[in-house]
Amino acid sequence: MKLNLPLTLDSLYGKKANFHTHTFRCQHATGKDHEYVEKAIEAGYEVLGFSDHIPHVFDDGYVSGIRMRMDELDGYISSIQNLKKEYAKDIEIYCGFEAEYFPNSFEKTMAKVSQYPLDYMILGQHFLGNEIRANYVGRYGQTEEIFKTYVDHVIEALNTENFLYVAHPDVVKFTSDETLYAKHMLRLLQELKKRNIPVEINMAGYCDGRHYPGDHFLDLALKNGNTFIMGVDAHAPEELLDFESYNTLVAKVENHGGIVINKL
Ligand SMILES: [Zn+2]
Ligand SMILES: [Zn+2]
Repeated sequence: MKLNLPLTLDSLYGKKANFHTHTFRCQHATGKDHEYVEKAIEAGYEVLGFSDHIPHVFDDGYVSGIRMRMDELDGYISSIQNLKKEYAKDIEIYCGFEAEYFPNSFEKTMAKVSQYPLDYMILGQHFLGNEIRANYVGRYGQTEEIFKTYVDHVIEALNTENFLYVAHPDVVKFTSDETLYAKHMLRLLQELKKRNIPVEINMAGYCDGRHYPGDHFLDLALKNGNTFIMGVDAHAPEELLDFESYNTLVAKVENHGGIVINKL
């Protein structure tokens, strides 16, 4: 199902923007919704997109501990809609989700959220197939098969045309062979380039000392001629004011001729 999602990056190219922002509803973020807006204004953003972890539909009644619950949807959407109006003079606010592409349940999840006025979605492919049984792709020791499936799922997700961009495209952790890494990752990078979708540089990963954004991955993207988009992936309002991390990451690609389309 292709949702009616009006936001395009083309229309916001060059604006100081962050499209990767969470809320307390996902159970691993803190602060009030309006505090994210106020910190974003203080930081100098012109555009703030909320992209909290979508409440996926799970057939077996599984309740996720890392997403908002389905019964929080109404409150999330109405809160962001109210903030849009309240802060309209100071900042453009958009309402979205960070979603996974689970082939068996994606349509059901889309049907659920299609009833709401959403502006955009980003893809955050943390798991394959299902949050319960499948591997978290960011774990050590992923096999080539898992890595390939990850890339396949991301490309299938892009084919739905529901995604503005891909959050932390290098969340998948495959470290055993550089040639194989490049082979599969270039498939993804070329797909993004073809679609004119920038590569996210994920600030939460950097601040938490995770394996992404990886220098090797950024280097591949630079050589492949991809553009970049900064994603704060804020799970606390004050993270929007962490200029030191932000500028360090921007410099990583700008120093090599890379273009960051949304930077502060
Ligand atoms: Zn999160
Ligand atoms: Zn996120």
